[in-house]
Amino acid sequence: MTAAEPKPESVSPNPAKSMDAIMALCKRRGFIYQASEIYGGINGFWDYGPLGAQLKKNLRDAWWQDMIMNPCWGRSGPGGQRVRCVPVETCIIQHPKVWEASGHVGGFNDPMVDDKETKQRFRADHLVGLFVVPAENQYIDKAKRPGIRKAALSGQLAPVRSFIASNESEAHLALQELKKRDLGGLDVRAAHVQIDGSESWHAFDMDSARGQMHGLLVQIPMRILEQTHTTIPSPFTGKAGSLTPPRQFNLMFKTYVGATATESDIAYMRPETAQGVFVQFKNVVDTTRVKIPFGIGNTGRSFRNEVTPRNFTFRSREFEQAELEFFCHPSESVEWYQFWRDFRMEWWKSIGLAGDNLILREHEKDELSHYSQGTSDVEYRFPFTAPGFGELEGIAHRGCFDLTQHQTHSKQKMEYFDASRGELAPNGQPKGEWYMPHCIEPAAGLDRGALALICEAYTKDESRASPEFLKLHPRLAPIKAAVFPLVNKDGMPEIAEKLHAELTAKFWRQGSIEMDEKQSIGKRYARMDEAGCPFCFTVDGDTVKDQTVTLRDRDTGAQQRMALDKVASFLSEKLGA
Ligand code: ATP
Repeated sequence: MTAAEPKPESVSPNPAKSMDAIMALCKRRGFIYQASEIYGGINGFWDYGPLGAQLKKNLRDAWWQDMIMNPCWGRSGPGGQRVRCVPVETCIIQHPKVWEASGHVGGFNDPMVDDKETKQRFRADHLVGLFVVPAENQYIDKAKRPGIRKAALSGQLAPVRSFIASNESEAHLALQELKKRDLGGLDVRAAHVQIDGSESWHAFDMDSARGQMHGLLVQIPMRILEQTHTTIPSPFTGKAGSLTPPRQFNLMFKTYVGATATESDIAYMRPETAQGVFVQFKNVVDTTRVKIPFGIGNTGRSFRNEVTPRNFTFRSREFEQAELEFFCHPSESVEWYQFWRDFRMEWWKSIGLAGDNLILREHEKDELSHYSQGTSDVEYRFPFTAPGFGELEGIAHRGCFDLTQHQTHSKQKMEYFDASRGELAPNGQPKGEWYMPHCIEPAAGLDRGALALICEAYTKDESRASPEFLKLHPRLAPIKAAVFPLVNKDGMPEIAEKLHAELTAKFWRQGSIEMDEKQSIGKRYARMDEAGCPFCFTVDGDTVKDQTVTLRDRDTGAQQRMALDKVASFLSEKLGA
């Protein structure tokens, strides 16, 4: 690669969408506000305004309906078995031993590094170093590229620059940054980006004043950082010597239960909703008629004291999860895992994320926890992760890890007696079998989900009266329809109000029906487009005569006449209500 023939960087549809513009729309139209904004905000916390609160409720309701009440749209599971799920709602604060058993007290840590000069903090496992090797170096040969990596990873080479990147797309940005900066005499004119194995993300050739250079962006492992933090240049100033050694930082928020606030009163805000299900597993089995296979769903707020909250609501310190723990016999667990993995991908598509921006990524064997036989992530290409992707939901085969841990720590039997299995008794009936169920966990984030829906829906079209609008799926849209009297006289407001009242009475569970009589009809359409309202009904002079209204479609702008008494059934069909 030479400077004369730069390789075009990969382009995805999403970078065209500006995150600043999306965030501005979210604020302007009351989807998402900064928490405590009048006091300057608080990092990592976001509030939902009227439209955002309803959008998130619609997402939660869609999950509840399609996962718990009518799981998988009535489809059967492996072997034609019925998919049965029940809900629970468990506390944010649990007995501290829950988090010891789950491994969160001992292991839910992020390594953290501070820059003493700028007082900035970042996750040590996100530190990427740029290692540059001159042409005459023994590592010049492409085949020997792993050698550079090895030297970098063993601490023998000090990086010439460091960056913070938590994924491949951020490493791309780091490279772009690199092209703009002075690298101590190196003139970097072109960078050839290549994904290069799991430890080093990017290899590139560079032309420099001193001849061709080879470089690698390598994620700096913790063990190396511990020994070499004094020689690694700060990602903020480029100078070496100001980084602290990495320190382990537990992500759980601590609080005290009771008035004395001593060490023995420490409790934690849950970092996930899943453990509430495992600790109530026995109660659900004993008090309801569920039989394996079955799932228990739990939704609610979770809290993680993220070291570097960022990317709008994507990485927050307080967020909402919707998790299902699906229990099955160990011999059927792999099939159930595949079933849920496929269904979850289909579900996200069904609510408006179809297309190239959504992928299902199966984890590599070496990424899996020791107890897991498979994990997949549903990932979305957000404008800030593009060309890479960010996780929306993880679907994990958790084996019998959690129930076994709680059985050990609580000394309560968590095994399940399955009367339909086991050897046959002389009467021809099975004798039954005790076993520890295996669990498949589809764990979704509702804030990331809502953000993905907004990013996907955000559309720019300068030719429209609403140059920015949201193509939200009708099922998810917070405003389902709007009713406009064309002018505020001649009987039109009365008909509009009647229609508005009828539609509100029918559809309030799904979202609001707006009434707007201010300004020109074009401006009213534009306001609704920007809020993502899919359908507008205009009452005009003809309505008074022939009882028809104009239906206008948000996405196409197409208009058609429709009988007034058909409006409710049309909406019912479109909203799946
Ligand atoms: P990440 O690797 O991005 O930190 P994770 O793998 O730790 O996420 P899980 O523990 O699997 O996440 O949680 C399930 C879901 O909860 C995630 O897919 C995501 O949608 C959501 N989630 C997790 N952490 C956050 C956060 N800090 N802010 C918003 N949503 C989150």
